[in-house]
Amino acid sequence: MTSTTRPFRHPRRLMMTSALPYANGPIHIGHIAGAYLPGDIRARFERMAGSEVLWVCGSDEHGAAITLRAKKDGVTPREIVDRYHSEMQEAFAGIDMAFDHYSRTSSEKHHQVAQDFFLKLLDSGSFEVKTDAQFFDPEASQFLADRYITGTCPKCDAPDAYGDQCEKCGSALSPKDLVDPKSTLSGATPILKDTTLWYLPMGRHEDWLRDYIDNGKFNGKAHHDARAWKSHVTGQCRSWIDGGLQSRAMTRDLDWGVPVPVEGADGKVLYVWLDAPIGYITSTMEWAAKAGQNWQDWWQSDDAELIHFIGKDNIVFHCLIFPILLKEHGGFNLPTNVPANAFMNLEGDKISTSRNWAVWVKDYLEEFPGKSDELRYVLTSIMPEQKDSEFTWSDYRERVNNELADVLGNFINRVIVLTKKYYESEVPAIDRAKWTADEDAIIQALDAAPGEVAELIRRNRYRDALQAAMGVARLGNKYMTEQEPWKLKKTDEERTAVILNTCIQVAANCSVLLEPFIPQTAQKMQAAFGITSARWEQASGSMMPHGEVLGDLPILFEKVEESTVDAQVEKLKTSLASAAPDAACEPLKPMMNFDDFQKMDLRVGEVIACERVPKADKLLQLTIRTGLDERTVLSGIAEHFKPEEVVGRRVTLLANLAPRKIRGVESQGMVLMAESADGSLRFVTPEEGTAAGDTIR
Ligand SMILES: [Zn+2]
Repeated sequence: MTSTTRPFRHPRRLMMTSALPYANGPIHIGHIAGAYLPGDIRARFERMAGSEVLWVCGSDEHGAAITLRAKKDGVTPREIVDRYHSEMQEAFAGIDMAFDHYSRTSSEKHHQVAQDFFLKLLDSGSFEVKTDAQFFDPEASQFLADRYITGTCPKCDAPDAYGDQCEKCGSALSPKDLVDPKSTLSGATPILKDTTLWYLPMGRHEDWLRDYIDNGKFNGKAHHDARAWKSHVTGQCRSWIDGGLQSRAMTRDLDWGVPVPVEGADGKVLYVWLDAPIGYITSTMEWAAKAGQNWQDWWQSDDAELIHFIGKDNIVFHCLIFPILLKEHGGFNLPTNVPANAFMNLEGDKISTSRNWAVWVKDYLEEFPGKSDELRYVLTSIMPEQKDSEFTWSDYRERVNNELADVLGNFINRVIVLTKKYYESEVPAIDRAKWTADEDAIIQALDAAPGEVAELIRRNRYRDALQAAMGVARLGNKYMTEQEPWKLKKTDEERTAVILNTCIQVAANCSVLLEPFIPQTAQKMQAAFGITSARWEQASGSMMPHGEVLGDLPILFEKVEESTVDAQVEKLKTSLASAAPDAACEPLKPMMNFDDFQKMDLRVGEVIACERVPKADKLLQLTIRTGLDERTVLSGIAEHFKPEEVVGRRVTLLANLAPRKIRGVESQGMVLMAESADGSLRFVTPEEGTAAGDTIR
């Protein structure tokens, strides 16, 4: 049973990045499954394989999402980013994200690196400088870009698209594309005002980008295997290029960010999507300074390759915009793969920070202490690699109980317990005469598994890689259950030794092959098998020589009770009910006092007649019985209701509104309506049992 040592080392240096998370809110499971867990599994595997790998990340601390959050919470942007930078670091550490370095973009170092980068591009003529009219909020006296402006999406008619992107259909937008734009600061309709912006003319780059994405070529030479990219990633890039790449503004009129390093550019900062990816470079520089290495070896050497782990909402920035910036700067490598993941949904709905519909990593770690591997395992099992996937608590429970506890935990435990009982924890010697085809099959599978799992990980198929590694545990569990060594022990000592020796080989392999996925559990298992700093090539059919003494094993996994997951679902529903209103909701009006309220005479009215108002498309003329009188009220609801739909309704009437003449008709009061975010109107109808003349207070 000799196995040759197989080299698993990656031939080139691997520079890996994971999307810099926005420091404007905590980390949830969708973030982890999207951009971080795949990076962590890959980095852990490559380290075990002896590859030269570097994995960096950091907090993205600029952009409108930060300043808007600060405004909402009534604090400074600095307080927001400090708070979430440390919160995010804690969450990442709690779920064992083993970054080589974690940086932040508000650091002085990063400002300098980003400014130098910008100046290099400016010198090489990569930008177009344009002064033209941009949307401006006269009440807040601020230019409105990105999330500072919302309106109707010109592509899909969604009512609350942002100035840079529609989240409904994913289209990239400019503020001027929006129909019916509104300032998110004041709700005001913006005016136009001149300002100077630096644009990246992306149209210039269409041809080489097409060759890069479609053929994996750069500068006319083979650059990477284009077929190794996920089809949803190349598909999205192609549709952007086919749609024609527009110039994109690379600066913003804001007071929070990296200042534009140009004379007279006061009050202007770099666009967050210009400075954030440069943050990967800064993070590498900081790491290199600490490690006594050259950062250039990782970003500028022919011997290195670059991989970005991101979510699908960042594809355009990493596959098109950042490559343009790197090429224009010169000297940098372009990404050889951007294995973006799709989104993870939760219990039948999109994960939403504003609606508090999320499983927060921080909460999970508090409520399930010591169980980070359980979450990593479930998230990897359902990782949204090609399309959106869904996390449910009942699925979490089933996977933990049926797979981790019943298969892996149970198998490893039986191996350790029986070896202790029969052989005083020593790996038994085997008698070749008692060897059968069953053992041959197992050993062959063990010899093949490290290569199979390695290949799947390198092809960014983490779900399948985990299944392949868990397949080894399943195989061992099934073999042991079928062979029943506990029955043979009394009748066939030699055969029992063969079976148990084989089971020990399987179990030891599991402790190596599962380490990238569930590192804490793997450490506990390796301790029992006397393995320290496991190397990938150690895994094989002949890992454990006879005579080796096994240690003790703590309980690896506890079963999850049904009541535990029910409580989590209940908690989600409760927090949803108390969540902050969403962005589409009208902002609160200024406070009024009780006296102001008392002045209003609200009462129940009944509509006894209704007709259209000639030459007024929007108005209906209602005759309302109020208990006091029968009066005429005009209401701007003709586009929503036909007259016959209104007659007979009980309505809420503001009865003491000063009469107004509209189109020659005097209106004596106002009928209250509820307006939804999509602009639809409904009557505010008093409950059944009320009658015309009842007062409302
Ligand atoms: Zn849209």
